[in-house]
Amino acid sequence: MVSTVTDFDVVIAGGGAVGIAAACKLSQQFDRIAIIDNTQHSPWQKDDGYGLRVSAINLASIELLSQINVWEDVRMMRAFPYQAMYVWEQGSDTQIDFKASDTTHPSLGAIVENQVLLTALNNAINKSPNITQFHNNALYELSSISDSSMLVELDNGVRLTGKLVIGADGQKSKVRECIGVDCTRTHYQQLGLVCTVKTELDHQQTAWQCFTEQGPLAFLPLEDNTCSVVWSVPEQKCHQLMALDDAEFNQQLSSEFEYKLGNITLASERKFFPLLGAQATHYIDHRVVLIGDAAHVVHPLAGLGLNLGLADIVYLSELLQESDRPLGSKRVLRQYERARKSENVLMQRSLEMIDSLFREERQLAKQIRSVGVNMTNKILPLKLMFMRRALGVPL
Ligand SMILES: Cc1cc2nc3c(=O)[nH]c(=O)nc-3n(C[C@H](O)[C@H](O)[C@H](O)COP(=O)(O)OP(=O)(O)OC[C@H]3O[C@@H](n4cnc5c(N)ncnc54)[C@H](O)[C@@H]3O)c2cc1C
Repeated sequence: MVSTVTDFDVVIAGGGAVGIAAACKLSQQFDRIAIIDNTQHSPWQKDDGYGLRVSAINLASIELLSQINVWEDVRMMRAFPYQAMYVWEQGSDTQIDFKASDTTHPSLGAIVENQVLLTALNNAINKSPNITQFHNNALYELSSISDSSMLVELDNGVRLTGKLVIGADGQKSKVRECIGVDCTRTHYQQLGLVCTVKTELDHQQTAWQCFTEQGPLAFLPLEDNTCSVVWSVPEQKCHQLMALDDAEFNQQLSSEFEYKLGNITLASERKFFPLLGAQATHYIDHRVVLIGDAAHVVHPLAGLGLNLGLADIVYLSELLQESDRPLGSKRVLRQYERARKSENVLMQRSLEMIDSLFREERQLAKQIRSVGVNMTNKILPLKLMFMRRALGVPL
């Protein structure tokens, strides 16, 4: 029996934060949006302990989340604004700080648990009459059926058409595979160890980042004296850290962090994630566009991956809004690819450069970065230029 086909304006594959935010944003412009996800998200509960996966959300992302009526919901659940970032190199006087008080904004962004963000985004799509959701179903085939639409087939036999198909299905994107787009991958030979900790000293609503010779160690501020840690280390060292008992781990972490927040005490289990970089060689194809991790994956050292994905949405929706061409027009998609690919590649290269610069042990490299970083720290306009890029808004 041949199943019926349902027509949509936009079909989005992937119900992670980027896919859902795209659905919410585009539902303000188009009547028929479909979103497909191969999982079903379980909502955040008030009594849940802190999730191990958190994201630093920048001001541009907060603006988008406000426009789609999600930010207030996030705030009501749990979000922690941070007022400053303090970055330094272990064992040296190389340091730089970024402060909200140097800008016109009350904070530089907020730390949000991924589970909280996904719950608020799911609440928003549940309220939208323009969005149809397909949970627990994977996109498994994508083909062009005419000049004006694409056919999307799910693994349960459901068939949909879309004038535009958006691949927001993450690092191992099936959409990317279906359109035959390659991906260049960078293996950082690091794992990201994550955990929640209690700190002896007040974190001062500051995001702390210590560059060690083995990789960056970040403390992201949650409630008073509680931080979420992302510790990027070579694989072997990560396994050693995972094998330590809690007391030994606390000792190593406090010492690597140079006791900036006093003694550190583990307050959760430890988990680790592989860290890799990736760039799709193209972001578009006939009536198909890639966004978020399906298009680009960056090193988490500056907490930008999700923010870049949300910036893809802002740019794409503005182009679609302003264009008088039909939805899915190649010219509009090309414009998206040109703008977003160059921005994302630049960001990926910059983060890789920073990571390798700080891992360079030779004396000359140490001197160069010390002079460069400390000088930047003293020149406010230069600092503001970096902040504008990272925060995504005028300052
Ligand atoms: C340790 C660590 C710390 C990080 N910290 C930060 C941070 O502080 N700030 C920040 O901005 N970023 C951060 N990032 C990056 C950020 O987590 C990612 O960039 C972001 O989650 C990507 O979202 P996405 O929606 O594009 O992809 P994903 O979250 O991977 O979502 C993809 C979705 O698609 C679904 N899917 C996959 N295949 C199919 C299919 N065939 N059919 C249907 N559905 C499918 C998946 O189930 C999933 O729900 C961090 C990353 C790491 C590893």
